Amino acid sequence: MAYDDNNIFAKILRGEIPCKKVYEDDYALAFHDINPQAPVHVLVIPKGAYVGMADFAANAPTALISGFMQAVGKVAAEVGVVEEGYRLIANDGPNSHQEVPHLHFHILGGKRVGPLLD
Ligand code: C5P
Repeated sequence: MAYDDNNIFAKILRGEIPCKKVYEDDYALAFHDINPQAPVHVLVIPKGAYVGMADFAANAPTALISGFMQAVGKVAAEVGVVEEGYRLIANDGPNSHQEVPHLHFHILGGKRVGPLLD
């Protein structure tokens, strides 16, 4: 899928729409999900125009890939979910119920969750 510069996370990255920021560096931005599904629900997005993981892995600069993955781990630690555990998921493409077409990882923690799929 072609990247849409007007998707909501692109607007958040450009500062056109506010977010409750948790973390930011050169490679990633993390913010609280506007509609939390767990006591801790944070989204981590890479600073680049990628809809899904396959495109990101194939085409993003290595520094961005590693910086983004490091940011995911830092954010999990920063929001305090590492010891008790958390779910890390990315909805990617039509079958996954991806709503926002900019790659994002959900960090869900603060409660014990059930099996992964519906
Ligand atoms: O993975 P998926 O694309 O389905 O999820 C998008 C997520 O982005 C939703 O959990 C939604 O609540 C969140 N969102 C947000 N802030 C917005 C728009 C959507 O946190 N302004």
